[in-house]
Amino acid sequence: MFKGILIEKDEQGYRAAVKELDDSFLMDGDTVISVSYSTVNYKDALAITGKSPVVRKFPMIPGIDLVGKVESCQSGKFKAGDEVLLNGFGVGEVHCGGLAQKAKLNSDWLIPLPKGISAKQAMAIGTAGYTAMLCVMALEKHGVTPESGEILVTGANGGVGSYAIAILAKLGYCVVASTGRVEESSYLKTLGASEVIDRNLLSEPGRPLAKERWAGVIDSVGSHTLVNACASTQYGGIVAACGLAQGMDLPATVAPFILRGITLAGIDSVMRPIADREEAWQRLASILDSDTFEQVSKEISLSQVIDTAAQLIEGNVQGRIVVNLD
Ligand code: NAP
Repeated sequence: MFKGILIEKDEQGYRAAVKELDDSFLMDGDTVISVSYSTVNYKDALAITGKSPVVRKFPMIPGIDLVGKVESCQSGKFKAGDEVLLNGFGVGEVHCGGLAQKAKLNSDWLIPLPKGISAKQAMAIGTAGYTAMLCVMALEKHGVTPESGEILVTGANGGVGSYAIAILAKLGYCVVASTGRVEESSYLKTLGASEVIDRNLLSEPGRPLAKERWAGVIDSVGSHTLVNACASTQYGGIVAACGLAQGMDLPATVAPFILRGITLAGIDSVMRPIADREEAWQRLASILDSDTFEQVSKEISLSQVIDTAAQLIEGNVQGRIVVNLD
């Protein structure tokens, strides 16, 4: 038996609870993992609270991220005792996930825990930090350098936003953080933001083109914020869009694209090929330091996950939540 969160949906309704589970709850997979840490991402919070139809099979163990030790691996790709990392691939949505002490997964979804970071630090990063790194890599691929100008990061106090600020600042970029919690400016400045702006400046309908300011943008918010970010991006600049915390809509005009040649780069972390994942995780392990993990993350136990998920949806959680499965 092992402990985990179980989401059920039936005639009694949609509910999540910590339960004693057995192997019959796990789905097919060639690798059994003893999970040491998981996280609560925005998507996990949507799944646990049922706010959005993230979970597509029931009963489901949520958790899109996990790190743990391999107990057995039928494919031979890993050996018992190897530390492995999982982000996405539909885990926690259609395949039982990381918010339990045991997982059974496909070895093709796993990467070795990168050298230089601990299991706990990997979950302090989680999908949020890995996605922030993918966004930074998109800016770099487009040719944006620290000399290009200011980079806007929206949803700054969130997981993706916090890591985007920390990574960009460590790489020498000048970062402007947009947040609804300007009272948390000192946290954002400690992470490396050089300026903090109120998200209300971006979240309402704006003009098709605004004053050119950003060389690049990392947006985890979507909706009018993403539209306004595009409208105020410099000629030839790039906006990496990865989230929908404000909304899934995109009430935009084509003006920034056809008059300023800006690029809107969509970032998906879930089905990203393994080679990109390994590159992103190697970069994270080399760029970030233990101070950042301390600043950005807070550890909780499995019994605190359900309350924390509700707070996260309310926008009351800062940075990253690490769940200790011990
Ligand atoms: P998070 O920790 O909850 O952070 C989201 C942040 O967005 C909040 O902290 C808040 O920042 C801001 N926000 C919340 N509600 C808002 C609103 N109504 N209007 C404007 N800003 C709002 O979530 P996360 O883990 O960083 O994820 C952020 C987004 O990226 C989510 O939509 C998530 O689903 C998405 N995501 C996508 C991928 C992918 O593969 N594409 C991967 C990871 C995450 P402030 O308090 O600073 O304003």
